[in-house]
Amino acid sequence: MALLVQKFGGSSVADADRIRRCAQRAYDARRAGHDVVVVVSAMGKTTDRLIELAGEVAASPPKREMDQLMAAGEQVSIALTAMALSSLGQPAVSLTGAQARILTEPAHTRARIRTIDTSRVRQHLAQGRVVVVAGFQGVTDEGETTTLGRGGSDTTAVALAAALRADECEIYTDVDGVYTADPRVVPSARKLARISYEEILELASLGAKVMASRSIFFGAKYNIPIHVRHAMLPDPGTMIVSETKEMEQEEVTGVALKTNLGRVTLTGLPTAPGIQARIFAAIADAQVLVDDIIQNEVSPETTSVSFTVDHADLADIKPVLDRILSDSGPVRGAGSWGAVRVDVGLCKVSAVGVGMRSHTGVAAKMFRALAEAGVRIQNITTSEIRISCILAKEDGEKAMRAVHGAFGLEVPARG
Ligand code: ADP
Ligand code: ASP
Ligand code: MG
Repeated sequence: MALLVQKFGGSSVADADRIRRCAQRAYDARRAGHDVVVVVSAMGKTTDRLIELAGEVAASPPKREMDQLMAAGEQVSIALTAMALSSLGQPAVSLTGAQARILTEPAHTRARIRTIDTSRVRQHLAQGRVVVVAGFQGVTDEGETTTLGRGGSDTTAVALAAALRADECEIYTDVDGVYTADPRVVPSARKLARISYEEILELASLGAKVMASRSIFFGAKYNIPIHVRHAMLPDPGTMIVSETKEMEQEEVTGVALKTNLGRVTLTGLPTAPGIQARIFAAIADAQVLVDDIIQNEVSPETTSVSFTVDHADLADIKPVLDRILSDSGPVRGAGSWGAVRVDVGLCKVSAVGVGMRSHTGVAAKMFRALAEAGVRIQNITTSEIRISCILAKEDGEKAMRAVHGAFGLEVPARG
């Protein structure tokens, strides 16, 4: 007998019929003798609709109230899923994030899970119930409702699987596994039988929305096998597991596209030590997530720093930067201290693969593919297992297809 966490995403619980089918999955696993914890997202596009509604009543709604609002979406789907299970004759109980004791930081709309006290979930399991937990939400020490960032039900599921030491976490979604690229953008993308935590973590943080990146952190840390599969089809999906030697055979495993990026460039900064620390500490205090950072030494006295952020965060960042510039005083010898430039309408295409550690010429191949597609590269950043290019947003999808083709990702891998 195993302990399974099954997570059903928004499209998988979009209507009553689908909720019944998801309940049937959980029921079947229970009949097969497993203990089952179900995590559900809000139905269909509910969260988007709630966010739109907030925008209709307030230009910039308080984040605390956004959390109160958004958490309502999952509260509907847990209750309906538990009811559907009961009507199959399977005892079930629904729990909100607070009732499941998912304790988070007090950061509204992007809280991170601190701990999960699993005693209540375990008690229900011990009594033979399927426990249906609301994804995406938690509670602070003060009892405030928080949410984990868009797509955060994946994080609830994997963190819960880790806390419960579950045998497997199944992520049921509207695609039958993890592909070499988003199949909606690259129709020739191929399903991967297995992918390493490290690669899916990179792909997810680089824009592949199939899994929330924070969820992979828990999977990797506690070594929870994650099975990404289709909610309505029986086929096996993709296993997310620890890296194996064969995974290094391919130079690139997958390609991701991150849209809606803006870039902030600070020019004329003094080269004296400490400036970068001041800038990024202030941005972190504003709880803005910075994407890639690029620094250029312009002259012995001045330097410039660029970083990309989500479009949505540009508004939060502007006052922070204005404050830093006015606090810092002028560069010696220069008239004014520096300037801020903001570029919008950017995207980032990335190639990811653990094989990059042992293959040469990967960057050259990617840049050639982009050149042949007529795409201008605006910035380049790399890590040990990824290469990313910042591009104009109009070029994103074309660039993704070009890079995918250049690495032959549509052709089944050897072995
Ligand atoms: P859910 O509501 O189940 O959480 P999401 O919409 O968040 O589902 O994630 C599934 C979607 O992720 C797919 O429909 C697909 O378009 C997209 N996606 C992006 N990159 C990939 C990839 N590499 N492999 C599979 N799906 C991907
Ligand atoms: N309902 C939330 C969202 O739409 C969480 C999730 O679906 O994972 O972002
Ligand atoms: Mg999702």
